[in-house]
Formats: sequence, C-alpha cells, structure tokens
Amino acid sequence: MKKTLLLLCLVAAPAFAGEGKWTPQQVLELSPAWLKAQGLKLPPNKLWDPKRGTGLLAGTVNTGGCSGSFISATGLIITNHHCAFGIIQEHSSPQRDLITGGFLAKAGAEELPGKGSRVQVPRAFTDVTAKINAAVPPGADDLARYKAVDRKQKELVAECEKRPATRCQVATFDGGVNYTLVDAVELQDVRLVYAPPRAVGEYGGEEDNWSWPRHTGDFAIIRAYTAPDGSSAAYSEKNVPYKAEFFFPLSTQGVKPGDFVMVLGYPGMTYRTLLADEMAERQARYYPRIRDVLGEAISLLEAAGEKDPAGKIAVASQLKSLHNVYKNAGGQLAGMRRGQLVEKQRAAEDAVVGWAQKGGAKWSDALKARDALLTEQQASAKTFERDFLLGVSGRLAQGPALATRVARLSMERAKPDLERRPEYMDRELPRIKDSLERAQKNLFPAADKALLHAFVKRAQALRPDERIQAVDTHFGKSYVEKDVTAKIDALYANTKVLTQAERMKMAGETPAQLTARKDPLLAFGMDLAKDQAALDEVRDRRQGAASRLRPAWRAAVMAQAGKPIAPDANSTLRVSFGKVQGYTPRDGAVYLPQTTLTGMLQKHTGEEPFNAPPKLRATAEAKKFGPWVDPRLKDVPVDFLSDADTTGGNSGSPTVNGKGELVGVNFDRVWENVANDFGYNPDVARNVNVDVRYLLWNLDQVEDADALLRELNVRKGSPVVKEAR
Ligand code: ASP
Repeated sequence: MKKTLLLLCLVAAPAFAGEGKWTPQQVLELSPAWLKAQGLKLPPNKLWDPKRGTGLLAGTVNTGGCSGSFISATGLIITNHHCAFGIIQEHSSPQRDLITGGFLAKAGAEELPGKGSRVQVPRAFTDVTAKINAAVPPGADDLARYKAVDRKQKELVAECEKRPATRCQVATFDGGVNYTLVDAVELQDVRLVYAPPRAVGEYGGEEDNWSWPRHTGDFAIIRAYTAPDGSSAAYSEKNVPYKAEFFFPLSTQGVKPGDFVMVLGYPGMTYRTLLADEMAERQARYYPRIRDVLGEAISLLEAAGEKDPAGKIAVASQLKSLHNVYKNAGGQLAGMRRGQLVEKQRAAEDAVVGWAQKGGAKWSDALKARDALLTEQQASAKTFERDFLLGVSGRLAQGPALATRVARLSMERAKPDLERRPEYMDRELPRIKDSLERAQKNLFPAADKALLHAFVKRAQALRPDERIQAVDTHFGKSYVEKDVTAKIDALYANTKVLTQAERMKMAGETPAQLTARKDPLLAFGMDLAKDQAALDEVRDRRQGAASRLRPAWRAAVMAQAGKPIAPDANSTLRVSFGKVQGYTPRDGAVYLPQTTLTGMLQKHTGEEPFNAPPKLRATAEAKKFGPWVDPRLKDVPVDFLSDADTTGGNSGSPTVNGKGELVGVNFDRVWENVANDFGYNPDVARNVNVDVRYLLWNLDQVEDADALLRELNVRKGSPVVKEAR
C-alpha cells in the first residue's frame, strides 16, 4: 500500500463498520482506536507482525479454494465440511461410506491422509509494486507489458520458492494498483480427523444453500503433519503432528447478538472496483448465461443420474459445484437488481469524474484511463458469447476438458518454464497430475456425452465472427442432431483419455506423441486447447492494458473517497470485522441472528436434505445439551449471522471474538447478500457461521470424542480454554 494511502487510513475509519476485507498490512494502518471501539481486545500487532510473520493471522491457513485455522498447537485445523469433502469422498466406498456416516479418528494412527491435500501457512507479504512496474520496458505495448509483468512475477516467485516447502505467489490488487509477494509454508501431509455425517455437514442441502435460517453443521477437522524434524514433508508414517505456534483456542462461551467478531481467511474474488459498465455486463450477460448454460448442464446430469445409480455417485461432486454456482448466479442477479448496484456504481463513478474534472490537470490521466478502460470493455464485449462458452467449457463435459488439459500441458511443456502459462509451470505438475488422476472417480460417459452434445449445439449457433474453431473442425458449422450424436459416440468409443493409466501417460507426452495416438477425443481436445490459447493471448493483452489503466483511475477513486478502501478480494489473506446481528430480508420480516438445535429438529422431515442422523436426533430430542446450552436461547446454538464482509473462499474461515478465540466457522452468505461481490450493503450484508458450540455439542454429546476434546483443551462438563496466544 502506498504512503499516501497509509496517511488516509490513519485519519479515517471505513465507511461502514463491517465493510472491507482488509489486508494484514492495512489492518495495521487502520486507526487502533477505531478497531478498539469495534471490539478488538488485542493490540493490532497481535493479529499480524509483518517483521516476524507472526500473530493470529499466521494461524489462518489456505486449504486451496477454502480457508481454515489452527485450533491446537498439535496441528489440528478446523474448516468446513464442504471444504474437506474431497478427503471424505476419497476414503468412502459402498462398504465404508464416510460421506453418509461421518468419521472420527479415535487415535492419530486412524487419521486418513488426503491425497493432494495441502495447506499453506502465511509467512510474509512484501510489496513488490515498484519492482514489477520497473520491469516494464519503456514504450511496451499492452501485450509486451503483460509479458514483462508476468515474467517478473514468475522470477520473484522462483526466487522466493528457493527455500524448501515454500509456496509463493505475486498477488495483483485491483488490476495493478499494488503487487504483493505472498510467501507461505506449504504443509503437504494433511489428514482427516473428524467429519460429521453429510446429513449434518450439509443439513438443508441445496434448498437452504445461500440462505437463512440455517441449521447446517458445516465443520470438519483435519490435521497437518510434518517430518519429525518439523520440516514439511509428503505423507509418511514417520511424520508427526505440525507444531502450530499460533492457533485459535475454542471459545466455549460462544457469541450473543451484538458481539464483535472477526472473520479471517482467503476470500476469492470480488468485483467492487469494476466500472459501472463492466458491472452492467455481468448483470446483463454473464450471470444470465451462467443460469442458462449451467442450468441445462444440471438438468442433463440429473437426468443421466436417474438412470444409473453408479453414474449418479460419479457426477455428485460436479453436480454439487454446478448447483452452487447456478444458485449463486441467481443470487447475484436478484441482489444486483434489488440493491441497484450498477446504478449506484454509476452514480459513484460520475461523482469521481465530476470531482476529478474540477481537479484539472492533476487527474486528467485518471479520466483518460477510465475512458480507455471503457473502450477495452466495448471491444471485449464483441466476442462475449464465444469467450464465455470457451471459458465455461471446463465445467461441462469432463472428457473434452481432460483432453484439453492434457493437450495444453503438453503444448506448454514444450516451452521454457518461465515462458509457460503460470498454471502449467513445473511447480504445478504435482497438482495437475493429482487432479488428472482424481478425475477418474467423477467420470460418467453417458452424462458427459449429453453435456458435450449441448456444448457443440451452442457453439454451432454462434455468430460467424465468434466461432470456436475446434467445434467447426470436428463437428461442422451447423447443427444436425444425429450427426453430432454419432460423432460424439465415436469420440467416446475410441478414446483412451477416459482411462486413468493412459491419461497419466499422456500427461508426460509431447504434442507430436499425442497427435500420433490418433485418439479422436484427444484430437478434439488439442484443437480446443488452441482456441483457448488464442483467447488467453487476447486476455493477456487486455490484462496488460488494465494494469496500465486501472491504477490511474483507482488513484482518483481513492483520493475522492478520502477514507480507507479495502481492495477487491484476490484469494489473499484478509480480515473482516463485524457484529453478530440479524436483518430484514424483505418488507415485514425480521430474521434473528441465531438458530438452535430445536429449530434443526423442527426442520427434520426424515428425507434429504432434512434428515438428521438418528443418534443426533435422539440426543437433541432428549435435550441432552450438556454444557453447550446458551443461557439466553436455553438451547444449543447451531448457526449465527454477522455483518462481516465475506465471499467465496471465506468458506472455513475462523470467526473469532475480540480476544482471538474461535466462536464459529464461516460457511456462507444469505441470499440477499450474494451480490455483495459488487458492493457492500450494511442492511443485508450477513455471513453465515456455524457456532463453535454446535461443534462441541456434537463432539461431546453425540460422538463421545473425549480424546479430541481433551486435545482441544475442552474438558467435558466444565469447559476450560487457554488464553489466546
Ligand atoms: N459458500 C461460500 C464458499 O464456499 C462462501 C460464500 O460464498 O460466502 O466459499
């Protein structure tokens, strides 16, 4: 963060208390008096000490797409059930169905290793903006600019990763306002310790997803291991639990309405710094297309699953993720309309323009930059439909997606490491191989063929100036149903891409070797990879333009605001501050901020997704609350709301009180708040957390997990917690 910004931060507090996903550095720049007034009981440097890379934030880990946190000095990590689903699924079989039954390791030796599961523990954040900008040669055009920035980022990462077990990344904030080198320790041996049955972890399923009131026990406990000397190591029987210097003790007191909370974690992506026109396109085209294309895919997968029980299991995870994105897109659209977010952004933008115009020459570059960004936007809009379809294809038919991935890997590996696309560099190979291997569990050719058919039909309907070449080459330019069906049948009948061992071999072959295989699905994938590579190059140039233009425009926005603004989420570590509170979802209705075990029972129908497991139900019906009853609610609290500013990726984030004790785990947002990715609205900005007391009640009263409770420093009957470190 630049000096000028820093000064701004010290003199002013954020616009709304809950607004902002603050970077660790920004937390230290926010007014300590303001933080204290919010409810922070620790000195801000207990959250993060940048010199030593220590503090509570060092206990907040990235689990790859989700967040998690250490809850013991012995490497125990809490995250969401839906974030640990991969490990649970990996160890589930019809004979031992951990998805349905849940899992509890009674001793360390029983813990289940997760293939490819890793967690990253943050160590340092270094501002490298000046280094990145200096790497751009004078007079570079936008593509050259992109390439120079990309190369410098890779060099910084390579240098940073010279230390063992280190995972680094140069994160771009707001299109290039700031570049930060993120340095983390990667722990490679992660094992499942506890997962509740799916009927608890996903109670309410899709029906309750993205909404409130909620009664979901979306938690799971995993543990990180290291070599006996403490260094990060791949799975080995000799490994020992990771010694976490920083962790969040569990608060057995929980929360009540009005309490201060912080949500720490790795929010994925938000779009609040987009121009109004850029936002408008997401509302007018992007989310409607998600609804359309993914909605169709969901129907096709469900229909195929109906006819084949094994197929139904295979597509379960793809279907779950499609549903999540599909419903999210509905929430984005509803929230954008209801909150008039584009209109608000336009008004805010107009205000900055008016202000900058009055500022004369000082801001003329900012205004020009905004105009140029708009021109870029209009240019990219011309091929929106093709680009969208190509972009989303990886989520649709898995056969072509795997073929494309293998082909792209082979094309990229022909280049020197630093010239490849970042996701195909050598450092990514173990991850790529894991995912190519794991994909086998999710394959169901009958469903896949239907998805490919729908994709081809859509591609063939594209305008002549936005064609997908691979589709034209392999399927012809116009749609004839029986021809497409016959062609797809032939692709699937004669391919080895869907055979795990062959696919793994392909992952190590050159493009010439892949071509020589004369595998028709692979040939289609290779051509699709070329379409994607061409689109990537166009996008690279656009990103080069954005990195030139957006910082100039954002400088005007920030100067006009006169108060600290947190950057858009970009999967880096952030902190949000909030209060436990309910909200008014619509005229005449008020939602309370907490739900209870009794409320969970009331929802029980005996059928999915409201089918509480018998033991849990019996314990709840007998009102065996143990010490986990909330004195106000006279019941065990299940979930609670706060107005902390979160998004996707914050799943599994520790929700902690002012002393740094864990009071819950974030897992979702309410329906009215899905569109907060485009703007924070304090009236409806609510994130959904599972109350730590629901976890403790489950461990204590339902699972009899005494050893685990002891390890968590919670004594049955009389809860005791240690001081936060
Ligand atoms: N459910 C989301 C996730 O999985 C969290 C959110 O979007 O609020 O990351």
